[in-house]
Amino acid sequence: MNQIDSELNKLKEQVKNCRKCSLCQERINTVFSDGCNCAPIFFIGEAPGKNEDETGVPFVGRAGKLLRQYLSECGYTAQDFYIANTIKCRPPQNRKPKPTEKENCRHFLDEQIKLVNPKIVVLVGSTALASFCDDKKLTISKARGKIFEKDGRRFFPIFHPSYLLRYHSTEENSPRYLFKKDLISILGEVK
Ligand code: URA
Repeated sequence: MNQIDSELNKLKEQVKNCRKCSLCQERINTVFSDGCNCAPIFFIGEAPGKNEDETGVPFVGRAGKLLRQYLSECGYTAQDFYIANTIKCRPPQNRKPKPTEKENCRHFLDEQIKLVNPKIVVLVGSTALASFCDDKKLTISKARGKIFEKDGRRFFPIFHPSYLLRYHSTEENSPRYLFKKDLISILGEVK
């Protein structure tokens, strides 16, 4: 195990023991990350849902399976990506994370980004976008597909896969078409 793996393991333990907000009361598991600790692409989703809470792994429910299916179709391998969320515990009824929950959890995410040190951070959906983008009025539809830089890091917003579950068309400029196009250009940015 290298230094980064061991630092990430220590951080994971801290997350497991975190009782900073009330979400700790009903969680089954904390959901720290999945993927490669030295990946060039760091995906940030919204929050764990039911399946993630049950397994402790991010993006394993319906939306997660769809994301993983697209990643594989677009040529991503296990070494290419690392996945986490803006918060580590499931909010009740899958509601959006509250600002205080995101703030309390933020230092864990910042430390993960620092340790993995990816070439690009992918903001999956509007909650992740709002956590990193100064323009709070910017919608994911306007932001997606465009790289922006902040504090020396490159960010790439994309649609959330749960949005795609509502739109099945793959015709040009459909959400699924744009999602795939974005995933392909992200891979192009790091290869
Ligand atoms: N699963 C996650 O881990 N995060 C999301 O944002 C959605 C599903």
